[in-house]
Amino acid sequence: MRALDATRLYFDRAADRIDLSENMRQLLLTAKREVSVQIAVELDNGEIATLIGYRVQHDDSRGPMKGGLRYHPEVDLSEVRSLAALMTWKTAVVDLPFGGAKGGIAVDPAKLSPRELERITRRFVDGIHDVIGPDVDIPAPDMGTNSEVMAWIMNQYQKYHGFSPGCVTGKPVELYGIPGREEATGRGVGHCAFKLLGRMGRKPPQTRVALQGFGNVGSHAAKFLSEAEFKIVAVSDVSGGYFRPGGLDIPKMLKYAREHLFSLQGYTDAERISNDDLLELDVELLIPAALGGVITAENAPRVKAPMIIEAANQPIWPDADQIFHDRGTVVLPDILANAGGVTVSYFEWVQNRQHYQWGVNRVRQELDRVMSDSFEQVWALSVDRKVSLRTAAYMLGIGRVSRATILGGIT
Ligand code: NAD
Repeated sequence: MRALDATRLYFDRAADRIDLSENMRQLLLTAKREVSVQIAVELDNGEIATLIGYRVQHDDSRGPMKGGLRYHPEVDLSEVRSLAALMTWKTAVVDLPFGGAKGGIAVDPAKLSPRELERITRRFVDGIHDVIGPDVDIPAPDMGTNSEVMAWIMNQYQKYHGFSPGCVTGKPVELYGIPGREEATGRGVGHCAFKLLGRMGRKPPQTRVALQGFGNVGSHAAKFLSEAEFKIVAVSDVSGGYFRPGGLDIPKMLKYAREHLFSLQGYTDAERISNDDLLELDVELLIPAALGGVITAENAPRVKAPMIIEAANQPIWPDADQIFHDRGTVVLPDILANAGGVTVSYFEWVQNRQHYQWGVNRVRQELDRVMSDSFEQVWALSVDRKVSLRTAAYMLGIGRVSRATILGGIT
């Protein structure tokens, strides 16, 4: 199954529940605009590389479109389409005045020099600058891109359109970025864990957690959860899993990762397990925070955790999701659980429009409020309509987008 088919399946399930008409389904499933541009650049060795850059602008009925820019060898139009639609539902679930978009270039950033990466980014902006902008479509970092890439985007965009720091988010804090953006997605995941525990009548110290991925999202979620006294017994990254039944020393692991190029390779104060084993540990809470599609119908029957929070995008395939639903495993879906990042991106955009620098305490306070309110709304809808949290989240998001579309009018 492709990511696009999974998003479509969840869409249809929720659309049935809210009795969405066929016409409206067709409208909401069709992207507003899809752009693919040629990116021809000179490499450091003098050769010419020709790449393709994509930007899919899915829906703008609730506001300017918002979504990340991914640099990864497997980027293709189908994946970008799926992620753009996911952004539309995500911004609507947390009620931000944004639509959804996504972009990407099929390239391996690890094989490029910083100067080559910069040239590619600037050529991409040359190709799309007239269809993005602070009131139109605002890119942000995603896999393979970071705050430096966002700074190049801002700089290149401003060559055409003049001063407009709100044309992109996830910028360096010292260049119109916002404090707290880097931790935002992990913090949002942690906040959701707190809310979920409250609803399940559990306490953090009695909750054993297994966390896959120790990058931006995973490491910040681990920090938040360990400070909140959750018992994190396993974490992993691309080097494999690290397990200690009595609880891992997370501050020590964070320090180790920082000192080793954000890798846990060589960390010795834990048992070694595989990434597959981590997913099947006897824990109360499982948080996949690395890749998509890691839990399928094949391994789902062996997953023991009664609660799963999707910190990564689409880590659970629909056939596995059905297995979890049938046996009562509670799954908090990605479009709610990892919305903390886009929420603080929204604050950054507001800050840029206000020409006023927000402090980190304000960012955290407002982020916690948005995550808390959104969790409560999704939970209440799920109880009221007797549907899974995923279907409830999609119902909420799709309902808001379709109402905005109708209110705006189609002439
Ligand atoms: P990242 O690149 O910072 O970290 C990814 C982590 O996954 C690293 O620790 C890496 O070692 C690990 N990893 C890679 N391959 C692995 C494997 N085979 N098994 C186990 N671990 C592996 O990425 P990130 O920003 O933390 O994003 C993680 C996920 O969260 C992605 O699905 C991303 O789309 C999603 N997400 C991120 C944000 C954000 O703000 N960063 C927001 C929403 C969603």
